Amino acid sequence: MIALMFGPPGSGKGTQATHVALRLGVPHVAAGDMLRSEVARDTALGREAKPIMDAGGLVPDELVVRMINGRLNEPDAAGGVLLDGFPRTVPQAITLDAMLAARHENVHDVISLEVPDEELKSRILKRATTEGRSDDTAEGLTQRLIVYRQDTAPVLEHYREMGTRIEAINGVGDIDVITDRIIESLKENGVEVRGA
Ligand code: ADP
Repeated sequence: MIALMFGPPGSGKGTQATHVALRLGVPHVAAGDMLRSEVARDTALGREAKPIMDAGGLVPDELVVRMINGRLNEPDAAGGVLLDGFPRTVPQAITLDAMLAARHENVHDVISLEVPDEELKSRILKRATTEGRSDDTAEGLTQRLIVYRQDTAPVLEHYREMGTRIEAINGVGDIDVITDRIIESLKENGVEVRGA
């Protein structure tokens, strides 16, 4: 089971992906978390990524692809993964599709969280006061939304054109309610989910 959690910055992708991955019984692979870990460990990749991330830009495809490819080759990913924050550009999606095709796999499902811009802004500015992420500033957010519309939204069109199943989920409401919406939508589409 290879699924993507898709949505704009602040849509709750990371939170929902954590819950949904448990129900699917696959690892949650979050590109942003992996990059922040590289930054925290002060690796060569982290040093290159940090200024780009802080400015709300995208880390070069080649670096992110190499990082994700390494992760997908780890043994726990053999039975599938829930990807969060990758692919974030059409070239990344095309590379992912090729990586998966090489192992006779493909993206089965895209979960697309829909949240209005005003709500995204208020959530991120609130997160800025609690989590202290260095990209959660008004300028960083504005730039991330521009990049999302320009570079990331076309990834959804890419999978729509490929005929991949897309679950459009209303991302406004309580965390548990949204998780239930996602699980119900997956079940309606015949995906096996653990628990009630
Ligand atoms: P958010 O969805 O709130 O923007 P993420 O944790 O998913 O947060 O990503 C944080 C930052 O990490 C992005 O703004 C970008 O700079 C970088 N990043 C994450 N995933 C990718 C990716 N697939 N390609 C390029 N850069 C990425």
